Amino acid sequence: MADDLAARVEANQQKLRAELKSHYDFIICGSGSSGSVVARRLAENADVSVLLLEAGGSDDVPDIMSASRWPALRRGEHDWSFNAMPNPRLNDRAIPMSMGKVLGGGSSINVMVWSRGHKADWDGFAAEAGDDGWNYQSVLQIYRRIEDWHGAPDAARRGSGGMVFVQPAPDPHPLAAAMIEAFATVGVRTFDDQNGVMMEGHGGAALTNLCVRDGRRQSIFRSYVSPIMDRSNLTVLTGALVTRLTLAGKRVTGVEVAYEGKMRRIGAGEVVLSLGAIHTPKLLMQSGIGDEAELKRFGIPLVQHLPGVGQNFQDHFMAPCVWESCGPIERRNNLTEATALWRSDSALEVPDLQTLIVEAPYASPQAAKDPLPPDSWSLTNAVLRTASRAASD
Ligand SMILES: Cc1cc2nc3c(=O)[nH]c(=O)nc-3n(C[C@H](O)[C@H](O)[C@H](O)COP(=O)(O)OP(=O)(O)OC[C@H]3O[C@@H](n4cnc5c(N)ncnc54)[C@H](O)[C@@H]3O)c2cc1C
Repeated sequence: MADDLAARVEANQQKLRAELKSHYDFIICGSGSSGSVVARRLAENADVSVLLLEAGGSDDVPDIMSASRWPALRRGEHDWSFNAMPNPRLNDRAIPMSMGKVLGGGSSINVMVWSRGHKADWDGFAAEAGDDGWNYQSVLQIYRRIEDWHGAPDAARRGSGGMVFVQPAPDPHPLAAAMIEAFATVGVRTFDDQNGVMMEGHGGAALTNLCVRDGRRQSIFRSYVSPIMDRSNLTVLTGALVTRLTLAGKRVTGVEVAYEGKMRRIGAGEVVLSLGAIHTPKLLMQSGIGDEAELKRFGIPLVQHLPGVGQNFQDHFMAPCVWESCGPIERRNNLTEATALWRSDSALEVPDLQTLIVEAPYASPQAAKDPLPPDSWSLTNAVLRTASRAASD
């Protein structure tokens, strides 16, 4: 059955690529976590034509598909491998920033932990937006609808039959249990499910929820787009770098894209930009939408002065700590099978720190100048409520 689908997809996409049209109803730029969902939902309507453009290549690669091999993907050909500007507050270190450059984007190179937002995050977004559609109760229904949860039933919070396969880490490494036990000894509550009631209170420690099935990565692209690539209304191009939007006045009419050695213009009824947190503002600016003074520096004709574009980048940085093991560490699942959400100050209402175990050496070359012993394990700590923003230059 799977082989049948693969053959149909191959034949269909080959035909669609050979007959590339000059206009589509929708062009989706970027096949990452968000672009994959949007492309799928639009292409479910057989009456519309959808073109999905991805700069990277195929995800059919052992280091991507095998859940335990993600460390090999860092800074490799499927990673845009950004570096932040050297930061004087970090001893002038330039912090490496990974982002997927492949079908599935980040969901093809990430660590596969299915981490929901905390209740307080969603309620905070709703308050900021003045829209209850963003609050926890609303978003919980969406989470339930999209999930295919294979852990202990929790009808109020977990869903089944959706497109995202999720399960608690099966047969985890003893290191994961040891981390949870260690958190319990310092008073952090332990839970059976990382995304159940734990996401509604002060935090806790649990085995991670994984988008991994039979040891294989279930990326958002594989979950949403792959199964419908035999449809005649969905064309997926890899190696297609979108360079700018085409416009008639202030109306977007399509995209300019570098594909197969040629620069092409393809028209669209609507264009969706889902290029990730760095490339989406970059493409807007290349198209003349951004801060006037900044665009002028690069000789880009102004279409719309929008000074916020390309500003206010915020990320949850991680600080890992590595321990050498006295023996080899067996590789299980995604090597990241336990997490804890906790508070740096007990006066806080919600967790502001997250710890993840990594059953492998995990540190950037900037942090670990000497090669790390291969038989090591790590605890990495993320700051969840960062206040600082990237400086503009
Ligand atoms: C190393 C790593 C580990 C992570 N671990 C986890 C985890 O365990 N759990 C979790 O929930 N999240 C994790 N994340 C975060 C998560 O993967 C991202 O938040 C998510 O993928 C972002 O989705 P997106 O659609 O915004 O962008 P992306 O998924 O980055 O998609 C953007 C896509 O656009 C393409 N693109 C960019 N520019 C162009 C262009 N000009 N033309 C054509 N295509 C272009 C890119 O190649 C990419 O495929 C991790 C991320 C990384 C990098």
